[in-house]
Amino acid sequence: MKEENDLSQRRAPIDMTPEQFRTLGHSLIDRVADLLGSMRVRPVTPDAIPNQIREALGAESPLPDHGADPQVILDRAASLLIDNSLYNGHPRFWGYITSSPAPIGMLGDLLAAAVNPNVGGWKLSPMASEVEAQTIRWIAELIGYPPECGGVLTSGGNVANFAGVLAARAAKARWDVRARGLHFDGAGNMTLYASTETHTWLQKAADLFGFGTDAIGWVPADGSRRMGLDHLRRKIERDVDDRRLPFLVIASAGTVSTGAVDPIRALAEICREHDMWLHIDGAYGGFAAALPEAPEDLHCLELADSVAVDPHKWLYAPLEAGCVLVRDPDALHNAFSYHPPYYHFEQEAINYFDHGLQNSRGFRALKVWLALQQVGREGYVRMIRDDIGLAEALYRRVSQTPELQAFTQALSITTFRYLPPDYQGHEESPAASEYLNQLNEEILVRLERGGEVFLSNAMIGEIYALRACVVNFRTTLQDIEALPEIVVRVGQEADRALRSQARIL
Ligand SMILES: *Cc1c(COP(=O)(O)O)cnc(C)c1O
Repeated sequence: MKEENDLSQRRAPIDMTPEQFRTLGHSLIDRVADLLGSMRVRPVTPDAIPNQIREALGAESPLPDHGADPQVILDRAASLLIDNSLYNGHPRFWGYITSSPAPIGMLGDLLAAAVNPNVGGWKLSPMASEVEAQTIRWIAELIGYPPECGGVLTSGGNVANFAGVLAARAAKARWDVRARGLHFDGAGNMTLYASTETHTWLQKAADLFGFGTDAIGWVPADGSRRMGLDHLRRKIERDVDDRRLPFLVIASAGTVSTGAVDPIRALAEICREHDMWLHIDGAYGGFAAALPEAPEDLHCLELADSVAVDPHKWLYAPLEAGCVLVRDPDALHNAFSYHPPYYHFEQEAINYFDHGLQNSRGFRALKVWLALQQVGREGYVRMIRDDIGLAEALYRRVSQTPELQAFTQALSITTFRYLPPDYQGHEESPAASEYLNQLNEEILVRLERGGEVFLSNAMIGEIYALRACVVNFRTTLQDIEALPEIVVRVGQEADRALRSQARIL
């Protein structure tokens, strides 16, 4: 006979006693501290194919019917992750634009999960909502944006940029676009503009939000990989003549490939002339605006109607934390709220579900807020400056290394490639270009497998380049100085392998 479940003495299997939590928590924190202490001597990434990882996990095992000891489960989880992960917190991780996570952010996420405020509504998260508001204001102050702006934290740069586009769409459509949409008789043909160097979030946004990717006016980049202004002007004028409705220009403040900063001041002027919204994708470079020596156009962020930045990049927040700022404090509310207008005026407090795409929301502001206080403006200026200085040092070293060819250096991104001695001087013939692309792709694969360093790649026109992006407070000059030699060594190996393969074929 089944035992009656006595709910007056309920003991849910998922709960823990405070003592149990304390013991488990301390032992987990010990493992994390050991991980931090041993990061440098670990490979950046495990040399493993998906099947090996699945095997280590036991990917095929079915859903457990019965519970298990949380100490055992947590220990196993820690071991699996610690032994089979890529470490973007490793001092020699320079791939993509992914930063080392700040230790205080790790603790912040634990505290956030423990209190578990739902930062969708103020009533559900009184202190957390105010912390988020303060974090947004501090971010604005850090990058020179008007602190009375609106804003919301997002899962990352993609969603922060989406929010900017949706705010622009609501503000610039000449009809009630939220009710009537984009495709009724009499709707204008809303058109947006960005350089060909823009991150792929833009295609997703154009697709998701009903414009269609054909509504993007792609503007070629100039020699320094910034948006070409004459091209943009001509495109807008032609589209106006075709009875389209140009409503949005997207500028990159730090392109994802090479760190180029679009001519923001001039773009703001064009937007003013045509009553268009200027959105800046500063997911990578936005925080470099805090540096007095930053490129002039980074000091013009306040000219933009909206700016996306990514605290999980140059503020070193653990994933995930993005942020959008809008100059008009009502712009997000106008784009996202479904309350009747009077509701807004009666509210003294901010309900973040009214300001973005999410309804229930986690407390991602905490880790950002903690780090901003731990280091202050001064600390961030110093760390970002050091990252840029290291990327510049890399460019100099690469330029002085005979078998390497340096291409670009901007913000903290340096691009280059390996060039075998017998290709030097005639690397531009079609056959040579093709081989060099193939070779450098092979080098990247081998570097990853080796686990000594982690790079990614960029296409510089038709050239496949290796790309190092330093968003890493653990990287030292010695780490940077070691890179050219490693790439030359791996380059020579890859070159030999490819040539002998070609002979066999
Ligand atoms: C990283 C990045 C994005 C996307 O941000 P996520 O945080 O990955 O969503 C968009 N634009 C630029 C320029 C970026 O560097």
